[in-house]
Amino acid sequence: MLIRTATLAGLDELALRIQKLKGGAHGLVIGVHETPASLESQFRAQLEWASQHFTITSLEGFAQLWAQPSVSQASKPLVLFTFDDGRESNYAVAARLLESFGGRGVFFVVPAFAECAPGESLSFYRNRINPDSKPGDEKWEDWKPMNPSQIEELAARGHAIGNHTLTHQRLVGLAPAELEREIGDSARKLAAWTKKPVDAFAWTFGWDAVDANAWKVIQRYHRFCFSPCAGAIDSRLDSPALLWRREIEVKYSPAEYRFLYSGLVDPWWSTRRRRLRQMLRVSQDANVG
Ligand SMILES: [Zn+2]
Repeated sequence: MLIRTATLAGLDELALRIQKLKGGAHGLVIGVHETPASLESQFRAQLEWASQHFTITSLEGFAQLWAQPSVSQASKPLVLFTFDDGRESNYAVAARLLESFGGRGVFFVVPAFAECAPGESLSFYRNRINPDSKPGDEKWEDWKPMNPSQIEELAARGHAIGNHTLTHQRLVGLAPAELEREIGDSARKLAAWTKKPVDAFAWTFGWDAVDANAWKVIQRYHRFCFSPCAGAIDSRLDSPALLWRREIEVKYSPAEYRFLYSGLVDPWWSTRRRRLRQMLRVSQDANVG
């Protein structure tokens, strides 16, 4: 209802125009899950639309927001596509599509999922990745992981492989050894597979499924930390150590995704962003002191 009203009123177009005026310091990160072949043309249409309003980039390109914020001043804001959990449908569909738009994705992989034997991945998916999944509803695109050699190939094609914990673990209240295993061991495994540094991390489940202790460990291993909390990124205010992402799935209708890209939902997330920023500040202060 809200989406329809906003669309009819042209509010989403208006908000996009405002966003564009803000210039080169701004970027947007999109979070996606499964990308089934049956929705490939729908995803292509979404990317086509996104490319008219944003520059579809890579993690390296996005990092330029902090390196030389003035470089992209005249161009459209950057948009970075990220994919959670490491599904084979991302390897088969999303990577190639993004490449055709001149972009590269960030694929947040769960090593224990990638290493599942063919008969184990559905139960891993139900137990660890999506506990709300209803047996019978799942399609293979939901639960089939990409394997380590597909992950290595994506990295070689210029995509970034990010860490999404070793076993898709919630990171609140864990003991130091557990954090080291879920974050550090996972990062080492991904670096061994890709033969590249693993710069990006995304925590699992909700915006509050992380605490300051987990953060310190994340920061020790990764430059970029992506949250499941919506917001536009302003490199003058935001740090790579805490980035916002808007979840926009490939199955969403044009009215839904246009509304979400416009950023009209962001104010609704502002309290959560503030709470996460406070947590970061606390953990950084603790590092200093
Ligand atoms: Zn996940």
